[in-house]
Amino acid sequence: MTEVENVLILGSGPAGLTAAIYAARANLKPVVVEGIQPGGQLTITTEVENYPGFANGIMGPDLMIEMRKQAERFGTRFIQGNVNQASLSRRPFKITLDEEVRLTKTLIIASGASARLLNIPSEMKLMGHGVSACATCDGFFFKEKKVLVVGGGDTAMEEAHFLTKFAREVKVIHRRDSLRASKIMQERAKNNPRISFIWNSGVEKILGEETGKVSGALLKNLKTGALSEEAADGVFMAIGHEPNTSLFKGQLELNEHGYIITHKGTKTSVSGVFAAGDVQDYIYKQAITAAGTGCMAAIDAERFLESEGHS
Ligand code: NDP
Repeated sequence: MTEVENVLILGSGPAGLTAAIYAARANLKPVVVEGIQPGGQLTITTEVENYPGFANGIMGPDLMIEMRKQAERFGTRFIQGNVNQASLSRRPFKITLDEEVRLTKTLIIASGASARLLNIPSEMKLMGHGVSACATCDGFFFKEKKVLVVGGGDTAMEEAHFLTKFAREVKVIHRRDSLRASKIMQERAKNNPRISFIWNSGVEKILGEETGKVSGALLKNLKTGALSEEAADGVFMAIGHEPNTSLFKGQLELNEHGYIITHKGTKTSVSGVFAAGDVQDYIYKQAITAAGTGCMAAIDAERFLESEGHS
């Protein structure tokens, strides 16, 4: 017989690990499935300066190591691997990892979202060295510098606008000649004297691989095919995020962008299943808000188990 867990947590970013700390301290002996990117998106950032409690900042990967240790200290068990099937129609819920099956009374989904990337080799090589997918995290490092923002949606406009607090010049690179962003966000960006636009253009390559530091981008005009180099100190990818929810389509209520809909805290449309962090949040997307909802999910799961007579 497969043992039935009290709480199974999918994901090991700030949401998943905070849920684990709380659930473990409530003596629920949680299990965390670490996923394909243990530690989540913070493991691909450099310095984190806006996580409270670290007056001098902390490196993203170090913050996640500390959180993991804290969860472990109270008895969290970790399993590596990726979930390839989730069955939520009956309790206990059934989660399949490769060939292994796990049963659980409650499930906390903290599988996050992944920044959409261009998937060109130079992008990954220079990630954290001038390439970023998060202006809130990394904008501060571009004081009085020139940066490029790739994308034409609300995220791109928001990131471009935010970056002008630091950068002296922001150029938005968009693949078409009209923006997808809402009118109000477009106006704000267009009225900002530090923001200008390069239309109908795609990024062929990010420059700077030889020095290990971004020096610009090779752009291609998608109408004429002409190539040109644009010097810059940073390149911000703002072409959207994909919530990691493909396993739950048809099983949980998702919004039109694929994010899990939560109500009354972290409850999902299936009783006993909770969601925390970026998998249910496309607005704030911060480590601290993810941690906050992770804490809420653990408390919600604990109360659910209590209401079901778990002792
Ligand atoms: P969107 O999907 O809305 O926009 C993505 C943008 O990136 C589009 O302009 C798209 O171009 C471009 N793009 C996508 N893939 C590529 C690629 N491979 N190469 C080049 N360009 C590409 O994502 P957002 O993250 O901007 O927004 C997601 C949701 O979140 C939206 O509903 C948005 O309104 C919301 N949001 C709201 C905010 C707010 O209200 N404050 C802030 C941020 C987001 P194209 O236009 O040609 O498709």
